[in-house]
Amino acid sequence: MAFNNAFPLTKKTPENPQTIIEVNGIKIGGEDLAIIAGPCAVESEEQLYTIGAFLANKGIKIMRGGAYKPRTSPYSFQGMMEDGLKLLRGVSQKYDMAIITEVLDLSLLDTVYPYTDILQIGARNMKNYHFLKELGKTDKPIMLKRGMDATLEEWLLAAEYILMGGNQQVILCERGIRTFDHTTRNTMDIAAIPLVKQLSHLPVIADPSQATGNRDIVGPLSLAAVAAGADGLMIEVHNNPEKALSDGPQSLYFEQFSDLLEKLKLLGRVNGKQIPETILKTQFI
Ligand code: PEP
Ligand code: MN
Repeated sequence: MAFNNAFPLTKKTPENPQTIIEVNGIKIGGEDLAIIAGPCAVESEEQLYTIGAFLANKGIKIMRGGAYKPRTSPYSFQGMMEDGLKLLRGVSQKYDMAIITEVLDLSLLDTVYPYTDILQIGARNMKNYHFLKELGKTDKPIMLKRGMDATLEEWLLAAEYILMGGNQQVILCERGIRTFDHTTRNTMDIAAIPLVKQLSHLPVIADPSQATGNRDIVGPLSLAAVAAGADGLMIEVHNNPEKALSDGPQSLYFEQFSDLLEKLKLLGRVNGKQIPETILKTQFI
């Protein structure tokens, strides 16, 4: 692609080789392999605090959880909305974890903004260009998910929309694309990770949960994404996946998440990145 001219703000240059975004002590795009974890959706106080306590104990510094969910069916659980946001903030304060949650729509920006530390733009909104422009005017880090049918070019152009607005703190997230085979929910485009890392200065996070829809594949795919150069991972974890109101089949059991952290520890430093000290010093339990 004619990269240099078409992507003036996202392209990697000698002057701007790598954006590093610091969130709660984690240098995303820097020397830390950022691990973001939590449930797909906030479901109850008990659920969120149980998961929060577990993750904090594992040294996790950024927690995810959807309060407004973009569900395919209008009859599926839509999220706890503002009550969910309040629970996220409560867990964040109790356990010293930053929060990432999705802003589903521009009309919700003012509501979501005070409760979150990173604004998540979902795959379904990646081509909502007016929305991208407006979020570009905010001053909190933004995670831009790749649309499930978006080319790399379209994804990076979407990031250009945000950067144009002035917000330079954009994190890209590869979450799988739709292909002919639905054995896995989506297909993780592993090649996109090193390619985007070569082309752009923006950090790239992999989301193997949405990419697979299958908790037993999340671990191997996480390791592959790290080997390919990802700056971090965003992983769905649940205290009771069978009862989860959203994305249960792809949510890791606590033991699976602990096991994955141990494997990431053993990987050591990969592509100049290593899991943060807060995780390294925890024990496998
Ligand atoms: C999610 O992170 O739970 C989610 C809905 O992601 P995506 O926008 O990638 O489908
Ligand atoms: Mn999900």
